[in-house]
Amino acid sequence: MRIDLHTHSAVSDGTDTPSALVIQAQRAGLDVVALSDHDTFNGLDEAVAEGERSGVRVVRGMELSCSRHGQSVHLLAYGADPQSPGLAAEMERVRGGRLGRLAGVLQRLAELGVPITEEEVMAQVGSSPSVGRPHIADALIRAGYVRDRQEAFDRFLRDGGPAHVSRYAIEVGRGIDLVHEAGGVAVLAHPWGRGREQLLPPDVLVGLARDHRLDGLEVDHQDHDAATRQRLRKLASDLGVLATGSSDYHGTGKTDHDLGCNTTAPEVLAEIDHRLAVAGRTRS
Ligand code: AMP
Ligand code: FE
Ligand code: FE
Ligand code: ZN
Repeated sequence: MRIDLHTHSAVSDGTDTPSALVIQAQRAGLDVVALSDHDTFNGLDEAVAEGERSGVRVVRGMELSCSRHGQSVHLLAYGADPQSPGLAAEMERVRGGRLGRLAGVLQRLAELGVPITEEEVMAQVGSSPSVGRPHIADALIRAGYVRDRQEAFDRFLRDGGPAHVSRYAIEVGRGIDLVHEAGGVAVLAHPWGRGREQLLPPDVLVGLARDHRLDGLEVDHQDHDAATRQRLRKLASDLGVLATGSSDYHGTGKTDHDLGCNTTAPEVLAEIDHRLAVAGRTRS
């Protein structure tokens, strides 16, 4: 059984519609795929319906924007109830922050000699409720300033980059609590990718597991090299938390993140299902 628990559709910053993503998952030989768009559940009903047609099980996911010391930390939520008031309110606040930071980013880009307008960005955002830097990158590509999203991030948009403006996110411990309040299972996304090891050293992960009952760590991810995966796997085992693996697929928006390039063990998914059942959440 092949299971991929982290993907993005065009409802956030991926490029496939939710149904197209599920069809791609079936073609890639996946039995289970979680759609985990940034800070929104909007693509899930479409993905689940397509999964029923295509014979792929779709797990209802979401990647929540969290922070520690003002730096970005991503938290995967599985099976959380979209109606849970605490989580819903915070997600709305996060999406507001995404939109609110746009003017600041555009001002910096203009100062850096690559001016684009809000309309040009919104044309890339389409109907997504979750405006992301990748959409700004797409507008920069469209205007002919950069070749691809990666170049836009490397030159301008990366964390700490010259056009980076921080936005509202939830403190990660509170994010875990809100996911649990919503009956969901909380797994830290790519905890040690892109220099995050300093931000989330082992003692911090120990604290999140002990004080907030963090459910798991995403170990197998393209942002982790082989040695990092080994150390994280050992830590997950020491902490008694789940170790997942996933692609973080973004369609054509990200290279080297093909569906199924990393996978999660069936026993780990069974444990996630078990925890959701205990929390009274029905599986899809
Ligand atoms: P935002 O959600 O607006 O903070 O943008 C974060 C998204 O941009 C992530 O989910 C990735 O899809 C992408 N991203 C973040 N950092 C980088 C990077 N250094 N290179 C390429 N893509 C990135
Ligand atoms: Fe993304
Ligand atoms: Fe992420
Ligand atoms: Zn992601």
